[in-house]
Amino acid sequence: MEINIKGLVIGETRLGDNKKFIRVLTEEYGCISVVAYGASSNKSKNFASARPFTLSSFNLTKKRDSYTLKEGAVIKSFFALGTDPKSLALASYIVSVAGFVSAQGEDSGELLSLTLNTLYVLSEIKKSPELIKAAFELKCAAVIGFAPALLACAKCSCDISHGGYFYVYEGECACEECKSRIEKAEYELVYKISPSVIAAMRYIVFSDIKKVFSFTVPDDEMETLSEISEKFLAARTENSFPALKVYKSL
Ligand SMILES: [Zn+2]
Repeated sequence: MEINIKGLVIGETRLGDNKKFIRVLTEEYGCISVVAYGASSNKSKNFASARPFTLSSFNLTKKRDSYTLKEGAVIKSFFALGTDPKSLALASYIVSVAGFVSAQGEDSGELLSLTLNTLYVLSEIKKSPELIKAAFELKCAAVIGFAPALLACAKCSCDISHGGYFYVYEGECACEECKSRIEKAEYELVYKISPSVIAAMRYIVFSDIKKVFSFTVPDDEMETLSEISEKFLAARTENSFPALKVYKSL
């Protein structure tokens, strides 16, 4: 069966000179593995469309669960990310998270949209990589069904807009009074969150994917937001990503 799909190439495994597997994040089929003959050579008509960090339109042959590339056309390339090692490392982390949390055969429209928007902002808009990373991590957790409860104290339901505490593993907040009364698990991570951090977290979780990076936090509070987002996503995915270690080493 022949199908035409749009997808972002998020990884490749080269198999000799003439063949490679590419991993493609698609809206309709989740993350799929596609065999691309000849696409490793820059003389191939499919060279550009099958490169990592490229959004392409693909003509594929589908046989049961295996896909073979017939022809591809580039829609948008984020290959320019490669000119900055830190941006490239962050982009690699982002696509490895997207690939990990998407499953073959499942609708991944929101995840694809978030990933594309993150790569776009990272490559073309001047925003701090830490802000981009934090927003992606928290929004990604929300998109896959793990939005944290940020509206009120989980114990007494009081408003925590003026600040409180965030429990990473529980994914919920507590006010100052309740914090001392909550029995927490040994592995729990608790962060004190200021009004600006709670506002930023709410913004990320509730905003439209296209606007998810349009917020600011004071410089001295970015680290808290960044740590919370990273640890929250890691707790939800129960996975450590080698690309994150590379990003953090730069
Ligand atoms: Zn409370």
